[in-house]
Amino acid sequence: MVVLRDINTVDALIDKVFSYNPEANADLLRRAYAYSNEVHFKQRRKGGNPYIEHPLAVAGILCEMKLDTNSIATGLLHDTVEDTETSVEDVRALFGEDIAFLVESLTKLSKMEFKTNEDAQAENFRRMFLAMAEDMRVILIKFADRLHNMRTLQYLSDTRREAIARETMDIYAPLANRLGIGWLKSEFEDLSFKFLIPETYGELERKVAKKREEHEGYLYEVIKIVEAHLRAASIPGKVYGRVKHFYGIYQKMQKQKIPFELVYDVIAMRIITDTQANCYAGLGLIHSLWTPVPGRFKDFIGAPKSNLYQSLHSTIIGPKGERIEFQIRTEEMDRIAEEGIAAHWKYKEKARGDQVDEKYFSWLREFVKSQKDAPDAREFLEAVKGNIVPVVVYVFTPEGDIVELPLDATPVDFAYSIHTEVGHQCTGAKVNRRIVPLRYKLQNGDTIEIITSHGHSPSRDWLKYVKTQRAKSRIKQWLKIEERKKGLALGVELLEKGLRKYSLSPSLAQSKDILEIAKPYRIKTHEDLFVAIGYGRLSVHKIINKLMPESEKTEADQVPVKKERKESEDSKGITIKGVDNIMFHRAKCCYPLPGEKVTGFVTRGRGVSIHTVNCPTLDTHTIDLDRLVDVEWAADDDATHTVKIQVFTVDKRGLLAEVSAVLSTNNVNINHIDASATHEKQALFNLILEIRNRQQLDEILKKLSQISGVIEIRRVQS
Ligand code: MN
Repeated sequence: MVVLRDINTVDALIDKVFSYNPEANADLLRRAYAYSNEVHFKQRRKGGNPYIEHPLAVAGILCEMKLDTNSIATGLLHDTVEDTETSVEDVRALFGEDIAFLVESLTKLSKMEFKTNEDAQAENFRRMFLAMAEDMRVILIKFADRLHNMRTLQYLSDTRREAIARETMDIYAPLANRLGIGWLKSEFEDLSFKFLIPETYGELERKVAKKREEHEGYLYEVIKIVEAHLRAASIPGKVYGRVKHFYGIYQKMQKQKIPFELVYDVIAMRIITDTQANCYAGLGLIHSLWTPVPGRFKDFIGAPKSNLYQSLHSTIIGPKGERIEFQIRTEEMDRIAEEGIAAHWKYKEKARGDQVDEKYFSWLREFVKSQKDAPDAREFLEAVKGNIVPVVVYVFTPEGDIVELPLDATPVDFAYSIHTEVGHQCTGAKVNRRIVPLRYKLQNGDTIEIITSHGHSPSRDWLKYVKTQRAKSRIKQWLKIEERKKGLALGVELLEKGLRKYSLSPSLAQSKDILEIAKPYRIKTHEDLFVAIGYGRLSVHKIINKLMPESEKTEADQVPVKKERKESEDSKGITIKGVDNIMFHRAKCCYPLPGEKVTGFVTRGRGVSIHTVNCPTLDTHTIDLDRLVDVEWAADDDATHTVKIQVFTVDKRGLLAEVSAVLSTNNVNINHIDASATHEKQALFNLILEIRNRQQLDEILKKLSQISGVIEIRRVQS
């Protein structure tokens, strides 16, 4: 979004609203303007201009965001209750419930400004979130208010100026970023930067302007080259060149401790195309034209940021040795990057009715409510088109520190985020001073206190509801150690019992002889031996058989693995004949595909792992053959499976684009793609693909091998 001149008459405002919302209620806007003008009449802005300038400009910014008429009217009225004799009741009587609610919320928010200590900032942040949960428009109007104040900050005293700029940098910019509104985050940062470190800002502004002038022709040239190649490769797309925002450049200088002249990628190019596949194809094309700078490729399409930002980033060495950062994304991704959550609060076609608007506007409110009333908030969320679900919740420690956790996180996640021991010893939790169950889903703004008791230990049940990786891994780690202890005790018991049964001395369990016998099983210590027995990896009979004289040997350990039949739930679309009632999963060593010959291996506690028949992991000399089971793929399996392949090619331009094109025309999803030059004038592409079965893989490999310049293709199976 470009920064336009502030709107300064009500007619200009109404024209602007009509340009995107022909059905807008112009009367309402005129009345709101007239009222605001009347009550603010005696006030002046700090610069000496009539006060009405400010509400008009705020309404104008909301217009740029294409918000609904009530939001824009609220922009006109937002300071009336705060600064004049007007009451919320007056606003309600004149402009209705919705506008009164918005004005009241904004008035409450504005009472909290200019606190500087950290506790107060946390409190501000919390209140912003609570207001946001009630009605998202409150925050968008607050943003517009702050933006205009920042644009006119020069009229204030030094101290107030700094306080406001600091707060904008610390709270508003990160919040705009969190909500994914890219243009607003950049403008908040640049304006704060300008008032916080004016000399540095001024110097940077001059240097960037100079660089921009010098580079105008150059940018044009690069755009032409890229456009021509996109056309030749039949990739639809527009190419833009732009200079990064000042604060972004400044951060780079600070982080890398370099002067402006050494910041290479001041210039960024953006390619906007139609599909995700074409983003990757476009990337391949850019990499074939110019050399990529190693380590500067980022795939935010495969791994989107938490504010839903998606794009491919790569820096290349362009013509004349200039480094240029390319950002490649679809139109939809670009819209989300610029407008973020605001995109969902836009004025909607009147034909869809007020109910649709209401549904969007009350989304966060309902979200909060639905999490309290219904356990399946997730279902509700998925129903919201466009999925603007915040992927995090913000909660508070009793001291007021903010903790960011994933959506649906529980007090257990919170406890582990504080400290591993707090997690382990967590027995209960209080949210907003009330006891809640440990599986309670945390809500924005909750204050959490963890109740611990010394010597308490984690429960396996927790794994069913914790959301953070940290909590999961800590619990699993603890359980593993605990399980090993139990396994060890059981192993000792079983072995000694077995020895007694065959009238051998229980002390043999600790002997050197027994370690000799265990050697073929790659067991080196007594402890490992006992654990292996306790876990069922090694049978007591096998050991004892070897300790006994030849004549007394029994038919020990001939219990075959039981094979039962039933569908499995836990394995992403795999159905296999011969394994039932047991969980199974594709082994991570060989990633077998439907259609390949496979065998199953009964693991301890993780069900059956499926390997290709010749997988080296299943070395028949070291594994327990009794634990192999016969399996085969069931027919008709539509799910896709990850497969890694490497393509070795001659170092020729355009090959990555060709490879991407073959994959996309054959409807194969690319999870990851990267390219590097190898020393013998060859290139290597690493690909991770989603493949349905062996047959599809064979076809793809065949087609890829037909591309001229491709030397060899390897499937990676380890
Ligand atoms: Mn204001």
